[in-house]
Amino acid sequence: MGKGAILVLSGPSGAGKSTIIHQASRHIGSFYFSISTTTRPPREGELDGREYFFVSKEEFEKDIEKGYFLEYAKVHDNYYGTSLKPVNTALQEGKLVIFDIDVQGHKLVREKLDDITTSAFITPSSLEELQRRLEERSTDEEAIIKNRIENAKEEILMIKEYDFIIINDDLSKAVNEFISIANAARLKRSTEDKKDFLQKWLA
Ligand code: ADP
Ligand code: 5GP
Repeated sequence: MGKGAILVLSGPSGAGKSTIIHQASRHIGSFYFSISTTTRPPREGELDGREYFFVSKEEFEKDIEKGYFLEYAKVHDNYYGTSLKPVNTALQEGKLVIFDIDVQGHKLVREKLDDITTSAFITPSSLEELQRRLEERSTDEEAIIKNRIENAKEEILMIKEYDFIIINDDLSKAVNEFISIANAARLKRSTEDKKDFLQKWLA
């Protein structure tokens, strides 16, 4: 691994993750946003290779077999996964790598790269507000929204695993908190870096 660092962002669908990353992006220095691969169909306005790489279930399963994923999970009945190669490249270049992944993905990243990982869980202050936002965004059908709300009740149980919680009610406050967290994440040093430092310091 290189000298980069990882920032995992999780939170229920509709919490405001994309909005926050987008608004913070000009204020957090150079970073690589990991574009996930998914089998869910694109929403209106989403582009292949921008929001996600959209693939069929068969293609996704082939990629699993080939070991292409750093982590993958089934979320709301679809596969979502993070490709290993671009992440490794960005880390070697010393970049901050930002993931928008679910709680299962966060757990898997922690198992593999804990010492360079910082995490934040984003949520509105209530379930009612989450539902309102999903309905207002109107990118998903009623049944899908219902499924996402049920999923949110499960996901919220995992907040104890995260370093930070961002309550996204006031958007600009949430964006500022995210910027602080991103800057701190960048300063996290790997176990290897600490060992190197110590060796030089004691030499
Ligand atoms: P996610 O990426 O977590 O699924 P989005 O960024 O798409 O969520 O946000 C869901 C919806 O909520 C969008 O319509 C967005 O404009 C809106 N939204 C985001 N943050 C806030 C906020 N603080 N107050 C009100 N609406 C918000
Ligand atoms: P959406 O369909 O709303 O874009 O995303 C649904 C959920 O999948 C969100 O919680 C999002 O964080 C998660 N997700 C997106 N990409 C990945 C990924 O590569 N891996 C995992 N584990 N979860 C992902």
